[in-house]
Amino acid sequence: MTTAEAKKAISAAADYGVERISLTGGEPTIRKDLFELVAFCKSLNVGMIQVQTNARMLSLKPFCSRLFSSGATEIFVSLHSHTPEVQDAITRVKGSFHQTVAGVKNIMEASRRAGREDSVFANLVVSGHNFAQLPETVRFFHGLGFPLMEIEYPRLMGNAWRFRKLIPPRPQAAVKMREAAETARSLGMGLFIDDFPVCLSEGFYDFNAYTKLGNDQVELNFSGGAVKGKGSGKMHGAVCARCSARGICEGDWEENIRFFRWDGFRPLSKTALSSAMEEVHRGHET
Ligand code: SF4
Repeated sequence: MTTAEAKKAISAAADYGVERISLTGGEPTIRKDLFELVAFCKSLNVGMIQVQTNARMLSLKPFCSRLFSSGATEIFVSLHSHTPEVQDAITRVKGSFHQTVAGVKNIMEASRRAGREDSVFANLVVSGHNFAQLPETVRFFHGLGFPLMEIEYPRLMGNAWRFRKLIPPRPQAAVKMREAAETARSLGMGLFIDDFPVCLSEGFYDFNAYTKLGNDQVELNFSGGAVKGKGSGKMHGAVCARCSARGICEGDWEENIRFFRWDGFRPLSKTALSSAMEEVHRGHET
């Protein structure tokens, strides 16, 4: 996307009344016009300007400071493990762990200076390399100063499809997510688990995006001018037909079902759903 095309998309989003824009990729920090685009969002009074990055470039202090001074209000850091071995194996770049951690430290310092300590979050994508150590990773992220992290289960597209046999099936991943949720709760750290079916989220309903937010989020995709709903590409199965959570849960990605089928999914009764929602409300109160 050229600078002009990116600005056109940003203007369209601002005209649409969007209050939050995420600059993502690929990796947006390799774009020469990143500061210009961030400043352009700011000039249109977009309230939240998020940059999603591996933070390796932010290990350079002047780069990090310039991103904030251009108008970035949130940095969403992709970091997938607490060990150099696992992170470098996932990124396939030796030394990437140390660069990202140095970037995170610079972001923490810059956000403290800007009085915005809630402006940096971690994003971890589950894989065969990292899922067994999720609780330890949560503890490490908390120690780095992240107030909130997101755990994402992959959609089996591109590389995720190529390496699909290494990805734990959802029910197996759910066991570790539950332990990660317990760790986050004990540390008082925020956790957000996106795109994870409600019926597999027992023990972490209070962190599940569907039970927390419902499915009325809208994602704008300006490639080709399309604006589409967040659930595009997801499907319900026969198992969902009798499920009380169907109104808030979008099921699973079509590609994931093609590989994993509906193993482990089960319909939720009205009673099970209402006790899940009680857990969410209790989580909000604490
Ligand atoms: S059965 Fe289907 S609709 Fe119900 S929670 Fe599971 S995936 Fe979602």
